[in-house]
Amino acid sequence: MRILVLEDDPDLGEALAEGLRQAGHAVDWFRDGTQADAALAGAPFDAMVLDLGLPGTDGMGWLRVWRGRGMALPVLILTARDGVEQRIAGLDAGADDYLVKPIAMDELAARLRALLRRSSGRAQALWTHGALQYDPSTKHVRWRGRPVELTGRETALLEVLLSHPQRVLSKPQLLEKLYDWSGSEPEGNALEVHVHHLRRKLDPGIVRTVRGVGYALGAAQDDR
Ligand code: CA
Repeated sequence: MRILVLEDDPDLGEALAEGLRQAGHAVDWFRDGTQADAALAGAPFDAMVLDLGLPGTDGMGWLRVWRGRGMALPVLILTARDGVEQRIAGLDAGADDYLVKPIAMDELAARLRALLRRSSGRAQALWTHGALQYDPSTKHVRWRGRPVELTGRETALLEVLLSHPQRVLSKPQLLEKLYDWSGSEPEGNALEVHVHHLRRKLDPGIVRTVRGVGYALGAAQDDR
């Protein structure tokens, strides 16, 4: 999933970006709200980690602006230990959850998973699709009960497809979910290669090609 992090503290921002990337997310980290605001228009984020203490317009101010504009993105706010009133105000301003600093990366990752699960309408912690079982907390994939080794990007692609089971996703949409702006540009055929590997490792029908449009989650028959 693609996460926007807005945190002005360089050490904490770096740690958040690094930790969330290790958890398998694409992460774009911004240190001021104006940049984050511009980024929101430019990429399909799945969740935001928002520090409230920012120079200029603070996190609360930005959250009000964004919610006022109808932004539905799940937002987790970061607050100071003694900021009870701030937390309440943050939740009232449209935050979905909060964490108190200092932050444990494991807890942040778990809370983001819960937010993403809720926003995708999945109540179950373990996702199943026919013969496929996927655990977003461990990133473990099983096909007909057998563990399957996928790379980080293959797992991320599978997760995006499972998150939108009824949709056809265009190639640019999928690439934007898999690659943040920090690294090098993906190779021209990177997506096709990941799709090829998913089909080979799982089942040829797991990813459906929709000609001229993109890809969609395919049938995962367990009766063949
Ligand atoms: Ca701060």
